[in-house]
Amino acid sequence: MYNEKMYALGSRRSIIREIFEYCKTRAGEIGADKVVDFSIGNPSVEPPKEIADAIMDLIKNENSVLLHGYTSAQGDLGTREAVASDINARFGAGVTANNIYMTCGAAASLTISLRALLNAGEECIVFAPFFTEYRVFIENAQGKVVVSNPMPRTFQIDVADFESKITDKTRAVIMNSPNNPSGVVYSEDTIRAVCDILRRKEKEFSHPIYLIADEPYRELVFGGVTVPYLMNYYDDTIVCYSYSKALSLPGERIGYIAVSPKAQDSASIYLAICGAGRSLGYVCAPSLFQQVIKRCIGARVDVNAYKENRDILYNALTEYGYECVSPDGAFYLFVKALEDDAYKFFEKAKAKEILVVPCDDFGVSGYVRIAYCVDKQRIVNALPAFKALADEYKNN
Ligand code: PLP
Repeated sequence: MYNEKMYALGSRRSIIREIFEYCKTRAGEIGADKVVDFSIGNPSVEPPKEIADAIMDLIKNENSVLLHGYTSAQGDLGTREAVASDINARFGAGVTANNIYMTCGAAASLTISLRALLNAGEECIVFAPFFTEYRVFIENAQGKVVVSNPMPRTFQIDVADFESKITDKTRAVIMNSPNNPSGVVYSEDTIRAVCDILRRKEKEFSHPIYLIADEPYRELVFGGVTVPYLMNYYDDTIVCYSYSKALSLPGERIGYIAVSPKAQDSASIYLAICGAGRSLGYVCAPSLFQQVIKRCIGARVDVNAYKENRDILYNALTEYGYECVSPDGAFYLFVKALEDDAYKFFEKAKAKEILVVPCDDFGVSGYVRIAYCVDKQRIVNALPAFKALADEYKNN
């Protein structure tokens, strides 16, 4: 026998993975150049050169037994020190290596943090639209998902709706900015308002409510937009970071959790994180990549290619009559489907070999996500199909 819940998760893949797999099969049938896969957030920009240089140097010059061996469960001390000084230099957050837990990317950071914070039946608020896997991670920690609805059109947080969703069972809130799937960066005013509410509710219910900052897209912003660092706005903050997108390393599985030193019971939360990592088997993040991160702490991908893709797609689609949220970051365009049912719209796009993701599972119906982290030429090639699709709707 097996666990039915796990069977259900394994047998029904996420919608993104479903479409991604379909694209691979379809490319085999008609040729990769004829299908445009806008489904998955796999970076299309090369990792910075420093990464390959660091890997080569480590492999050539370091002791291979140590390099590929276990590190401390929470991560190599030197790497955690490098991460802490980077955070302090950029945001003045006052963290030390003892606030940092190295992980296998943001998915592990979130899974561990939720397991560390939630008791069975406690609630975790997510802001729609939200990364579909939050539901899986929260429920795996025996928590209950509570969805806060966004402001229409801008997809900023609806602060009043958020406040109405907080109960005495609320233990955590996940905030993801720049946002997947909308590309929206939450404004500083919105963040201040959310944090004021959280402080008030902590007092009212006499227990902490933790803000989990899910930040894999922090570095992918365009046009000088800044992403406020949540630890500087709210003490009970835990940052779940990942190098998957910032350094184009999603397959290497490397990221970290940073617990604010100002959080209530900060040291105990860190130990709960160590315990959750242990219970989930997420100890000792990939050793080689911990060393790479230590050496390449200031490296970044060049985001100009994403900006160029965004501009081409956003300008063309709005010209064809699509309603799109203007994204300041990440590499997603959130587009209103041309009919109420985003799945029907998806099918019509699929018939033209353009694969987008219907966003009902992201907590917003009637929208699709276009992951524009693809080669620019593929976007240019797909534009006539987007135009033909819009014309088809206009003519019916
Ligand atoms: N959180 C968000 C909002 C994401 O979009 C993703 C991946 O796309 C993750 C977390 C997981 O990131 P990672 O690949 O680092 O585990």
